[in-house]
Amino acid sequence: MIRPAEICAEKNLPVALRLAVTDRCQHRCLYCVPAQGILKCAHGDILSYEEIVSFVAGVRRSCGLSRVRLTGGDPLARRDVTTLVEMLAALDLPDLSLTTNGAQLGELAADLKRAGLRRLNVSLDSLRPETFRQLTRGGDLAGVLRGLRAALACGLHPVRLNMVVLRSINDGEVAELARFALDLGCELRFLELMPIGSAAARFSEWFVPSAEVKSRLEQSFDLAPLANESGSTSVNFAARSADGRSGTIGFISSVSNSFCAACRRLRLTPTGLLLGCLARPEGLDLRPILRGPPEARDPALAQAVQEALSLKGRRRCFADQRPMVGVGG
Ligand code: SAM
Repeated sequence: MIRPAEICAEKNLPVALRLAVTDRCQHRCLYCVPAQGILKCAHGDILSYEEIVSFVAGVRRSCGLSRVRLTGGDPLARRDVTTLVEMLAALDLPDLSLTTNGAQLGELAADLKRAGLRRLNVSLDSLRPETFRQLTRGGDLAGVLRGLRAALACGLHPVRLNMVVLRSINDGEVAELARFALDLGCELRFLELMPIGSAAARFSEWFVPSAEVKSRLEQSFDLAPLANESGSTSVNFAARSADGRSGTIGFISSVSNSFCAACRRLRLTPTGLLLGCLARPEGLDLRPILRGPPEARDPALAQAVQEALSLKGRRRCFADQRPMVGVGG
């Protein structure tokens, strides 16, 4: 629920923040990280936890916040990320979540829960060890599944699974993933591939529209539309199979059904660039604000937020070729 105090003064809507806390990732997914890897940010350029918290608190005070999500890179690849979760949880935000590939979830799930995290998303593109290894360039499916079970066992809820569907790589697994997710009591979201980063060059070969994924699923599940969650980019359905499985399945159709007009999401990169849109190159460097005098911070952040919101397009244009690993998905 959005509290009245969280409403953004100017546009009457709160903003949602995605914080990429590192550009490091344990996986190098084919569609995300270029084969040669990425040029890593220098340690001194990366925002400290105090700077990230000061940004979130300042945006909350000056503009209003609906959701905060930690991403990356992989947020669990940043040292002591549970400390950051604890610091953010102390702000009593309306919603705090995290997106991870699950590689380090087995060791960190219980600490994250203790630190105040309630829910999380796990990216899981295949249940076949070899496909998973190839897609992630070396990832270990068994370790991710252990992490997922650890997250469920310690009471993180809901745990959502995200699957990016790629033609001829994992598109034969959509029903299998749906059965797996529902059996675990997880929501599942199918993500359309976006022509960003290393996906741009292979986009026409790999892209599978949500409509096609949905009709494949309908061979095994009844899908009844659900009301949209406010601020969510996912179109959700109540899924029920003939053999009694049931749960929620959603589709995030970033390409075939652009949701730019309603988007209030802003992204902060690990080095403090505030982006109005994941698919556009323009951003505002917040380090001078976050490293400058505290008394000037709130007005400067409020202005930066409005400028970043004005950088959004009415339709998604995919003009930026920065890999998602450095921006946060
Ligand atoms: N490492 C974390 C993870 O794997 O969830 C967080 C960062 S990752 C960039 C966030 C999400 O972006 C993942 O679900 C990933 O599959 C998705 N992603 C990355 N590149 C994408 C692309 N080109 N199109 C669609 N989704 C993409």
